[in-house]
Order: sequence, then C-alpha cells, then structure tokens
Amino acid sequence: MVTMGMTMTTPALTQALECLQASERPLLIAHPRPDGDTIGCTLALRLALLALGKAPRIACVHPLPGNLDYLPGAAAFEVAIPEDADIDLVVAVDMSDLSRTGGIYKPAWAERLKLVVIDHHATNDAFGDVNLIEPEAAATALPMARVIHALGIPLRDDIATCLLAALITDTRGLRTETTTPAVLRFVSELVEAGGDYLGVMQRTLDAVPYKQMKAWGVALSRLQLETGIAWTTFPLAEKQALDIEDHDDLDLGNLLSQTREAQLFASLLEMRDGTVKVSLRARPGYDVAWIAKQLGGGGHTQAAGYSLPGSLDLVVRDTLALLRQELARPH
Ligand code: AMP
Ligand code: MN
Ligand code: MN
Repeated sequence: MVTMGMTMTTPALTQALECLQASERPLLIAHPRPDGDTIGCTLALRLALLALGKAPRIACVHPLPGNLDYLPGAAAFEVAIPEDADIDLVVAVDMSDLSRTGGIYKPAWAERLKLVVIDHHATNDAFGDVNLIEPEAAATALPMARVIHALGIPLRDDIATCLLAALITDTRGLRTETTTPAVLRFVSELVEAGGDYLGVMQRTLDAVPYKQMKAWGVALSRLQLETGIAWTTFPLAEKQALDIEDHDDLDLGNLLSQTREAQLFASLLEMRDGTVKVSLRARPGYDVAWIAKQLGGGGHTQAAGYSLPGSLDLVVRDTLALLRQELARPH
C-alpha cells in the first residue's frame, strides 16, 4: 500500500504507535453529534486493535445517527465512561480540542493516562501527549489508515468499509477540494480490499430519514440568499413540532452548500440549552475556518462550526457580519 504514503513515518506516528502497542485496554473517543469520519475511524481502529488481541472500548456522548449504525462494531459504542474505568490509554479521534470529547474525557485521567490525538483539523490545538494531526488530509481516515498499517494490520473488508464511510462523508461524496488524486487512489484501494463502496453510498449518503426530509422542507422554506451567502435558521419551535432532538443537526450545512448562487453557507439551529449551533460551508477558495475559530469553534476551510449562547437573531447577525468579511476578501 503505497498510494497514500502509507510507509511514510513521522515522529508523531511512531509515538502513537508506541502508545497503542503498549496499551491493552485503550479507550477511543468519537466527537459529539458524530459524523462518518469520527465514527468510521474509531471503528476502524477498534477492529485493528481487536485483531491484535487488545480490548479497546469506544465511546461517544451522542447516539449514532441511523445512517452510520450499520458499520461493523457500531453497537459497541458507550455513551459514558466512569472516571475509574479500567483503561490504560485514551485516543481522541477526529477532534480539534479536548472539549470535543463531549465530557467523555475526565480531567483526572491526565495524571494516569496518555492521550493520543488522531485528527486533521487545521484548528487543532495539539491537546494530546501525542498529536498525529494532518491538516491537509481530506479526513482523519488518512492518518488513521497510516496508524492501522503501521500496527501491521492489513486492510480487511470491515476496516476498509469503516474508512470508506469516513472518507466519503468528510469529502461530502468525494467533492471537496481535499479530494486529490491520491485520495481517489486510496478509495480504490479500499474498494479492492473489500470495502463496501456501494453500501456506504446507499446506507450512509442516500439515507435521509423521512423526518429529516420534512425538516429540510422547513429549513428550505426559510432559506435566505443575499449576495453570495445562502443561510437559514431552524427555531426551537419547529424542531419541537417535528420531534427533532438537539444532537441531530439535520446535515443542513451540506444541504445548503448546493445553492448555486452562493459561495458561503450557514445553517443556524436553536438548541434547547439556549445556544445556537452554527454550521458553515464554503466553496473551494473560500475559508470559513477562521470565522469558526474566532467564535470559539473550529473546523476546516470548507466546513466549520461553532455554538454560541444567545438568540437566533443575534447569532445570525454576528455570523453574517463575518461571512460578509470573508466574501469581501480578494479571491
Ligand atoms: P458541522 O458543521 O457540525 O458539520 O462541522 C463542520 C466541521 O467543523 C467539522 O469538521 C467539525 O468537527 C467542526 N466543528 C463543528 N463544530 C465545532 C465546534 N463547536 N468546535 C470545534 N469544531 C467544530
Ligand atoms: Mn468530524
Ligand atoms: Mn473529519
């Protein structure tokens, strides 16, 4: 396997490998409102560690969305881990700061457990003892594949399916500017290894629940377009009417990003705790990562997000002000 530079060794990869090899009972954590990358990579690493005879646990504070819960090992996710759990390593997967473990990580662990971060967010603040971070990578699936390869585990069909789900979701179906020829070659390697490409497309991408489709109707009926910016809001009352839970972000950012007239996109969802969850998207060449970072969140140039306290109107105002700044930059 040479296409993604799988044999390329970096100090961070070596350190991550040493931690994983020395560990018998690692805890792998996926981020809240889990997406295909965090889930797929966590499951892929779990399968590799199981193949080595280890006893990994996996956790995510939110339940898996229905379009990811078919992936091999998905039923093993736990929603909470006690502070005194019998674990000997923590691995944070696809997240840019410690708060993104959603409270799964306990501060007291810092004294007794090493923390390994495997990620690809440009906004990652290197919060681990070991930080394997590839900001240019299309998905965490790429550094994760390197880790699995270095562990000496071949790409089996189940591992390949998990990594495909990760790569295909984070590239929104292989359409982001991070989808390089090397990424496409890696996809073909995963398919050759028995990864279920069509299954991922059908069960993860073309798998919008009826309730979410109805919610898209509400969101699209509220869609606004001002020069170059398409945005919508989803008030709490509408969520309650459709029985939409807070951990469900309806994937609105990705939906809006198909609006032809716009370069920048924002969806703003009102949450039950008084915050507003914002998803930003940008066409190639535009950058929303700095906006999310400035407002306390994170992400990538083309996809970023944050949560702010306050009314929808206020968060709309602050968000639009920064999006207009981005639009006004020379591109
Ligand atoms: P989303 O709009 O929630 O799909 O997120 C787009 C990207 O931004 C993903 O890579 C997320 O991991 C990242 N992201 C979203 N919200 C936050 C946040 N509050 N803090 C850090 N990163 C975030
Ligand atoms: Mn993610
Ligand atoms: Mn990711």
